[in-house]
Amino acid sequence: MESPWKSIRPKYFLIGILITFIITCLISTLPFNTEGCKCPGYSERLQDSKNVRKLSGKSLHRLAVLVPFRDRFEELLTFAPYMKRFLDKQNIDYRIFILHQVDRFRFNRASLVNVGFLHVKNEFDYIAMHDVDLLPLNDNLSYDYPDTPFHLSAPDLHPRYHYSTFIGGILLINRDQFIQVNGMSNKYWGWGLEDDEFYVRLKEASLMVRRPQNISTGTQSSFRHIHDKNHRKRDTTKCFNQREVTRRRDRETGLDNVPYNILEVINATISDSPITIINIELLCNKTLTPWCECIKTNEIKDKKIIAEN
Ligand code: UDP
Ligand code: MN
Repeated sequence: MESPWKSIRPKYFLIGILITFIITCLISTLPFNTEGCKCPGYSERLQDSKNVRKLSGKSLHRLAVLVPFRDRFEELLTFAPYMKRFLDKQNIDYRIFILHQVDRFRFNRASLVNVGFLHVKNEFDYIAMHDVDLLPLNDNLSYDYPDTPFHLSAPDLHPRYHYSTFIGGILLINRDQFIQVNGMSNKYWGWGLEDDEFYVRLKEASLMVRRPQNISTGTQSSFRHIHDKNHRKRDTTKCFNQREVTRRRDRETGLDNVPYNILEVINATISDSPITIINIELLCNKTLTPWCECIKTNEIKDKKIIAEN
């Protein structure tokens, strides 16, 4: 009699091959860490794994949106709910931190970012240094975890600044790389140049800055800059030897020696957007940076009169 195995065996064999094939396909879509992998089809699979993550609503990394802030209440009222909608669409796991400078020195955007970073670094994997008055309009502007510094408000997209080394506005950088360059300089009181100095830090550390590719909305409709230049005047005053010092790369100050006190941490909600406000008192070393206060001659006269009376 003919053995029944003769007809059954090929069937099992085929089923076995099919199961192995399915398992192999499934394994290839798993988001294993394949950093630096140059295998064919890797980038497509990476994109697939990001899509899987998006469908499941889980982010692998946490983003702290760090917003240097003082006296921009109207802008904040627009910013917070807008960013919530924008980042939720991208399934980013984030929190917004308003770095509120409460001392009476001139505004210091870079020191506030340093303080914000120190506050969040144990719980967040990357930061976005984010102007409160710059809103991304194009959904292809990605806030995903960056392997290398990612300048979102690129010179060919930012409404106002178009020079090639510009990295202000919105810059994403991961924790290790921010630590690697010792954060930002603490010498920049008043408006401007702190971002240009940070560009030199990145360059010296050979950290290539990437920018968004294939964005078709240009300088007019990639971002909305809610900045009324007459109402929100930029503090461009220079005093003492500020001009000369701030033109140079700073090797003395940074993340490891920013002087400050945190006076209060307030969790609040604007419309439906949860934010954390950190009241920061920056301290000024007047020997190192006397320009943290530029008192005009008239003000000095007034102070003398007050003192004499
Ligand atoms: N900023 C602030 N209060 C100030 C100055 C600046 O909150 O008095 C913050 C705010 O987030 C702002 C960012 O620093 O968007 C950059 O400053 P600004 O908008 O004046 O510079 P721009 O990039 O428009 O030249
Ligand atoms: Mn602005």
